[in-house]
Amino acid sequence: MGETISRSVPVEQPHRRTGEPPTGSLVSYVLPVYDEQDGLRRFHRELVAATETRPDFEYEFIYVNDGSADGSLTILRELAEADSRVRVLDFARNFGHQIAITAGLDHAEGDAVVVMDTDLQDPPAVSVQMIDEWARGAEIVSARRRTRRDTRFKRLTAHSYYRLLHGLAEVDIPVDTGDFRLLDRRAAEELRGFRERSRFIRGLVASMGFAQTEVLFDRDERAAGETKYPLRKMVRLAADGVTGFSTAPLKMITRIGFLSLALAALGILYAVVMRVFLPEVTVSGWTMIMVVMLFLGGVQMLSLGVIGSYVGRIYDEVRQRPLYIVRKVIRHDEH
Ligand code: UDP
Ligand code: MG
Repeated sequence: MGETISRSVPVEQPHRRTGEPPTGSLVSYVLPVYDEQDGLRRFHRELVAATETRPDFEYEFIYVNDGSADGSLTILRELAEADSRVRVLDFARNFGHQIAITAGLDHAEGDAVVVMDTDLQDPPAVSVQMIDEWARGAEIVSARRRTRRDTRFKRLTAHSYYRLLHGLAEVDIPVDTGDFRLLDRRAAEELRGFRERSRFIRGLVASMGFAQTEVLFDRDERAAGETKYPLRKMVRLAADGVTGFSTAPLKMITRIGFLSLALAALGILYAVVMRVFLPEVTVSGWTMIMVVMLFLGGVQMLSLGVIGSYVGRIYDEVRQRPLYIVRKVIRHDEH
C-alpha cells in the first residue's frame, strides 16, 4: 500500500469533543461489498492488521453484502466464522453502494464508525489515521485523495464533477473526498436520521456540521476485480449529488422564464411598431401572431419557473431532513 498519509488539515473546528475516548471504546467499520470475491480475504487481513496497531480500542466489522452474484457471501460467512467481531448483513438484491452504507450505519454500535470500500482503494492504514484524529477530538474525519490511480476518464470526470458540485451545492461538500469517512457516535446517530431515498451520503455528512477534519491520502488502484460503478451508476450518483444539494437547475428555469418574457416584450414592441409605422412591409396577420406567440411563450416559461419553485419546496419538505442538529445540551450542573 506504500506511504499514504502525510498530514491532516483541520477544516474548521468550532468545537471539539472534550477528553480522549476511553480505552476499550468500540470502533465500527461499515464495509459495503459487491462482487469482491477476489480481493475480500486480503482486504480483511489488511484491515485487521491495521487495527492491531491501535489495540487500545475494540472493533466490529460490519460487512454489507449488496446482492453480490459471485462468491463474496461465502467468503464473508467464513470471515464471520473465524472472527467474532465480523457481522454480515446480506441484502436480498443489489441496492447500491449508498444504501449499503446506510444499512451498515444503521447497525453500527460503535463510539466511532468508519465507512470504507472493500477493494483496498481506501487503505486500511488511513482508517487508523482517522481513528487517531478522532481520538484527538475530531467528530468527522474525511479522507481526501491527494492523488488517485484510476482510468484517465474516471480521474477527469471525477475532478471536474467535484468542482462543479462544489460550485453549485448549497452546503460545502469537500472536493476529492468519497465516502471514506469516520463519524463520531453523535454524528453517526444524526446521519441515521436522514431517510431520503436518493442519497448522496458525502453531501448529507457535509450538511451536518460538527468538527470536521481531513486526512490526505494517495488512492491506490483496485486490488482485484473491476469497478462496480459503471457509467450508469456514476451518472445517477452524480445527479443525486446535484439535485440533492442544489436548486440551481430549478433556478435556471425561472431565470430563463424572466429572460424570455423580457425578450418577448421587446418582440411584441417591435411587431406593434412595425404594424403602426411601416404597415406596408408587414404581412397581414403577422403582428397578431407574433404578439400572441411571444406573450404565451414568455408567460409559459415564467409559469414553469413558478411551478418549479413550489416543486423545489415540496422536494425540500418530503426529504424530511432534520431541521437542526444539537450536539449537546449543557446544563448548569454538568459540562
Ligand atoms: N459497492 C456496493 N454496491 C454497488 C456498487 C459498489 O456495495 O452497487 C461497493 C464495492 O464493493 C466497493 C465500494 O462499494 O466496496 C466502491 O465501489 P467501487 O470500488 O466499484 O467504486 P469505485 O472505487 O470504482 O468508484
Ligand atoms: Mg473502488
